[in-house]
Amino acid sequence: MDLINQLISLPPREFTDFLRSEGIQRFWFVWHPGSRVVMASHPQLQPIADWLRADKRDFLEHEGLFFQVSREHGLLQGAFVHRTCRGQGAGGVRLWTYETLEDYLRDGLRLSAGMTFKNALAGLWWGGGKGVMARDAGFDDADPAVRKSLYREYGDLITSLCGCYVTAEDAGTSADDMVSVYGATRFTTCIPPRLGGSGDPSVPTARGVVCGMEAALEFIGDGDLSGKTVAVQGLGHVGGRLAGLLAGKGVGRIVACDIAPSNVERIRREVPGSRLEARVVEPGDTGIFGTECDILAPCATGAVLGPATIPRLRARIVCGAANNQLEDTSRDGALLAARKIVYVPDFLTNRMGIVSCADEHAGTIPDDPRVEQHLTKDWEFGIHKTVLKVLEASAGSGKPPGTVATEMADRLSLELHPIFGHRGRKIIDALAASSWHEKG
Ligand code: NAD
Repeated sequence: MDLINQLISLPPREFTDFLRSEGIQRFWFVWHPGSRVVMASHPQLQPIADWLRADKRDFLEHEGLFFQVSREHGLLQGAFVHRTCRGQGAGGVRLWTYETLEDYLRDGLRLSAGMTFKNALAGLWWGGGKGVMARDAGFDDADPAVRKSLYREYGDLITSLCGCYVTAEDAGTSADDMVSVYGATRFTTCIPPRLGGSGDPSVPTARGVVCGMEAALEFIGDGDLSGKTVAVQGLGHVGGRLAGLLAGKGVGRIVACDIAPSNVERIRREVPGSRLEARVVEPGDTGIFGTECDILAPCATGAVLGPATIPRLRARIVCGAANNQLEDTSRDGALLAARKIVYVPDFLTNRMGIVSCADEHAGTIPDDPRVEQHLTKDWEFGIHKTVLKVLEASAGSGKPPGTVATEMADRLSLELHPIFGHRGRKIIDALAASSWHEKG
């Protein structure tokens, strides 16, 4: 195997062992648009920079990627900054398990570019970024003291990046973890209310999904949610709240499932029985996708819609909260369109998580108009109008809605911040010109 394939096939822990053997604690990869090359902070890592440059699918001209090896835990901690024209790269930090360095890098790249598009389509003056930490079996993340020091180290990394990336909560990261991050950096959102933040985003996220469903029903000319059948996969923070909101909207039937019996029990207590059919399923059980329904709402994990599931769908609309629902955006978008199933792009309808915390540095107020405007029917950048715009453009062009939404978002993401311009890029250039990678 050649050097680059050896490197990217390493489990993240073995990669950090390699880094330590080379005396590397911090490193970066920075994209230079003029010469169209990706530079690495260390010559030993230039093969990875060249591999990123050659990648056609996920690299997408990320402005800068910054990493450190946690001194206390040996884990790889990263900040992926995709595009900062509209503002600092913003997106949450996830703590996740990866088999290889390639899996780790690809997940970070996809997620941070996804944040660029989500933020731009929501009209937020933020760029796109994502934090990813690679956990492994030897790491005891159930120990609060371990988590505290890991997330404080992550906060130190963020501070060192001088604001080109602003972090937040994401999968594997808790509200308590965000307190630890906040203890080490000002460049974070999603701070708990007791420290002046906006709190749990899952209620606004569920409301955003309802908005997307109503717009899609309007698009197909089928009125509102009353009397409809909705199938919900996943009854966690968002799916559980969504089921409650749908019951309040007078839906006829909710068919729901979760792998956690406690979540199914909770929803049975909260939603009147005659309208709800909730069951516990095994993790591999995809029976919910065959439910005859008006709307299918994936609210568990990503990559649930692909060639194995799409032919079995008996829904007219797919609209849910889960990130990256399609295994492959263009292939599966086309498969859904061929079956005349209206797909509401996930990054459009699940935006309220970031929207609800994006402006918390500017103060918080009850029923914040800056948040609520996304849920109205008449604001240009609101979910309702944007869903209609995307679905109409999709019908007019024959392109799947996900492709249309990404193209719209891509154009918006190149607009420059009205006050700060492309400041994030300047920060990245200054970091690369400094001795950042020699510190730590
Ligand atoms: P969560 O972990 O609270 O809920 C997910 C639920 O799905 C859990 O209850 C889990 O048991 C269940 N689940 C997992 N695999 C399943 C399967 N195969 N079948 C049925 N149920 C299964 O997460 P959440 O905060 O509710 O987020 C749900 C999705 O929405 C995630 O993809 C997340 O990235 C996305 N999202 C969430 C927010 C937010 O505000 N929380 C914002 C944007 C996007």
